[in-house]
Amino acid sequence: MTDAPLLSIKGASKRFGAIAALEDVSLEVGAGEFFALLGPSGCGKTTLMRLVAGFETLDAGRIEIGGADVSGAPPHRRPVNLMFQSYALFPHLSVFDNIAFGLRRQGKGRAEIAARVAELLQIVRLEGVETRRPDLLSGGQRQRVALARALAPGPRLLLLDEPLGALDRQLREETQFQIKEIQRRLKTSFVVVTHDQDEALVMADRIAVMRAGRIEQIGAPTEVYERPATRFVAGFIGQMNFLEGRIENGAFVGPFGRLPAEGGGLSQGAKAVLAVRPERIAIAPATEASAGLDGEILDGVVEDVAFRGETTHFRLRLPGGEALRVSRGANSGAPFSVGDAARISIAPEAGRIFASE
Ligand code: ATP
Repeated sequence: MTDAPLLSIKGASKRFGAIAALEDVSLEVGAGEFFALLGPSGCGKTTLMRLVAGFETLDAGRIEIGGADVSGAPPHRRPVNLMFQSYALFPHLSVFDNIAFGLRRQGKGRAEIAARVAELLQIVRLEGVETRRPDLLSGGQRQRVALARALAPGPRLLLLDEPLGALDRQLREETQFQIKEIQRRLKTSFVVVTHDQDEALVMADRIAVMRAGRIEQIGAPTEVYERPATRFVAGFIGQMNFLEGRIENGAFVGPFGRLPAEGGGLSQGAKAVLAVRPERIAIAPATEASAGLDGEILDGVVEDVAFRGETTHFRLRLPGGEALRVSRGANSGAPFSVGDAARISIAPEAGRIFASE
């Protein structure tokens, strides 16, 4: 992000009685960026969004939009709009009137409203349904009407709170791509609030992972997935194995022998965990030479096999008794069955090492 940020949150804190909903949260969202706030229920995502929209006031900190301090500004003075999962469309109004609602409130003229609604219908690919009532639309179409309605007044920043929570899985995936495509074309900044990691990974340019009122990491989807900054992030996003060991002479010593453990402030003798993704573990039948394996090789036993189409997931038992999840792409070698012996290894750079909690 090289340009001045569109949204800048600095040291935001908010308490509700004894509960610290947010503690010293800082982040920036670029102009035209798709940003996700991701975290478990109760971590403060909604509170942060309500602060940006102006429905809550900060206890400490500052919020700037487009370089202007809006910390004390009421919602209607902020160039921000919101779209909720339960964004109830007015059931008695047509699609046209639903989308035109905010424009009429802004006092726009008839011709301007008609042109803007037509433009929005085209953006969300809903031309031809303007006279229909919302209850005659599919769930996905309703979602797009809600998006068009939220975009109609031309906000510089659109906040979307669990926008796809009401949709079933398949429709949700489809709608994720549609929303992303619309955002890319409009270049409006979007901030989506979600507890669904797939949603954040698929849609966002960058993700802030939150936990208990604080930000654990901000990064591109690949960064938070490949290089989680904390053990919490490692476990919250994607599937992860955690293997216990300890730090000895700058190395992590665990089930896979010695792995380099530079940095991280881990002290000699400290208990630590190795976090390694199921797809970063190499697996070969015990009967084969160790082709494709690297470093310390362990013998394991396949305890469970789950076929998932493009990948197959295995649960293995290691000699030390630990369970290990391993996944492989389709057509990537000999199949395994429950009870098979397997040889496994990990490349030294495949895992991340964290202090034990
Ligand atoms: P969810 O995904 O469940 O909506 P969230 O991450 O959005 O969770 P928030 O709704 O921001 O979390 O809540 C953060 C914390 O603040 C929670 O402990 C919640 O109970 C508390 N909280 C939020 N709003 C209020 C309020 N108006 N009064 C009292 N406590 C509140």
